Amino acid sequence: MARLEADCSRCAALCCVAPAFAKSSDFAVDKPAGQACRNLADDFRCRIHEDLPARGFQGCVVFDCFGAGQRITQETFGGRDWRGAPEIAGAMFATLPVMRQLHELLWLLTEALQLDEARRLHPELRMARDEIDALAAGTADELRGLDVDAYRKKVVPLLRRVSELARAGAGRRRPDHSGAHLIGRRFRGADLRGASFRGALLIGADLRDADLRRADFTGADLRGADLRGADLTGALFLTAAQLRAARTA
Ligand code: SF4
Repeated sequence: MARLEADCSRCAALCCVAPAFAKSSDFAVDKPAGQACRNLADDFRCRIHEDLPARGFQGCVVFDCFGAGQRITQETFGGRDWRGAPEIAGAMFATLPVMRQLHELLWLLTEALQLDEARRLHPELRMARDEIDALAAGTADELRGLDVDAYRKKVVPLLRRVSELARAGAGRRRPDHSGAHLIGRRFRGADLRGASFRGALLIGADLRDADLRRADFTGADLRGADLRGADLTGALFLTAAQLRAARTA
């Protein structure tokens, strides 16, 4: 299985070049797709890595490629990079969004396989994970031709069933906030055990001291959410990048 966390030392800084940036609270500058960020050094390191939020690049802090960048660099393109071989630049950059989505699905499936409550779904989860990992091992042309949405549509219902099973033991209430707009909402000290926040917008929400045990955070936007003192024991599908985006200390 491929590694599902970013290892920038084995990547050619694809996320600093491939996507376009729109000047906003996340990015201090506009940048067209395919053009290297002005802060990118010749050795593919970020010159302002230690200082990203203060310099207006919070979007870089919260981005997570789930290990897609190093897989493209090392596996799909055999260790070559867009600087040393400019002729592959376009293909490399076009592969990033596809591989990232595949690796995100792999990460979710791998998390689901850690959940004992969903044990009866483990064979299906393993099959889905192996199928997607095999797709991710394809050539650049194969990857760019993939209909990732079709695979997402197969995997998401399975992950929802996993979430139901895992949250079932978290009490009766289990509020359903999936897809909800909860920007700035006050939840301080609330009992949110087993809640679903799948795809919810929790930007700037006050979740201090909330009970979030076994809550599902799949795809939730936690930028600026205040999680200080919250109990996140057993929280589901909560990524390191989501936690970086929130306030935890
Ligand atoms: S600011 Fe740094 S991490 Fe962000 S895109 Fe530019 S080089 Fe990459």
